[in-house]
Amino acid sequence: MTIIRYYPDNCAVCGAEQKNQHVFIHTSYLPLLQQIYWEIIGADPTKCTVCGYVSNPISKSPGKVTKEWLQSEEYVNNDGIDFKSGYADLYYKEYKVELLNRRIEGAFIAIFTTCLFCFEEHDFENGVWCSYLALSLIDKLKRQKYIKTDTLKLMRAGLLRRTGQFNRLIKEFSGCTFEKVYYNRYLSVLLERAIQKNSANIPDEELYRVIHGHD
Ligand SMILES: [Zn+2]
Repeated sequence: MTIIRYYPDNCAVCGAEQKNQHVFIHTSYLPLLQQIYWEIIGADPTKCTVCGYVSNPISKSPGKVTKEWLQSEEYVNNDGIDFKSGYADLYYKEYKVELLNRRIEGAFIAIFTTCLFCFEEHDFENGVWCSYLALSLIDKLKRQKYIKTDTLKLMRAGLLRRTGQFNRLIKEFSGCTFEKVYYNRYLSVLLERAIQKNSANIPDEELYRVIHGHD
């Protein structure tokens, strides 16, 4: 079950009152990487209905973002990417905002979530493209405020699989052990898929089974 609460807040760019979301998820399982994401963030960004600013929360300092930039072709049309998922569109815009302000960790989380929504909607081409963008940001993440190193490593392993870099994944992660048992279980699924050169979605049921240690 998911509980969403809204609270009013003012857009940091145009001042219009908007409704931020607070999402509380009480569910037995979600696809693992999505679950990790929710553990980090816990809410979707909000898009201002007046100026188009996307942020979490909407009152967060816009930094270099201006009203003009929000109307630019690259922002409005997501650099020409035609997403199938409305959430992917929303998170890609947050990624653009964070990147403009050189908030690399925020940009990474936003583009990573864009990938999740693309794959969920079977929008593979855009999902793979955004996975490459996410991978390029991981290399720039020197300090992580929210994301623990193990989590980041696991996210990287997932992105390597999605981008078809199977040999690299096997080379980097064979023999790698995490503190959390379910991370290790998830990694074993990724490695197994990498050996099969399989970058497709892993069924939720299978993940649930593996993560909870059932055969
Ligand atoms: Zn606004």
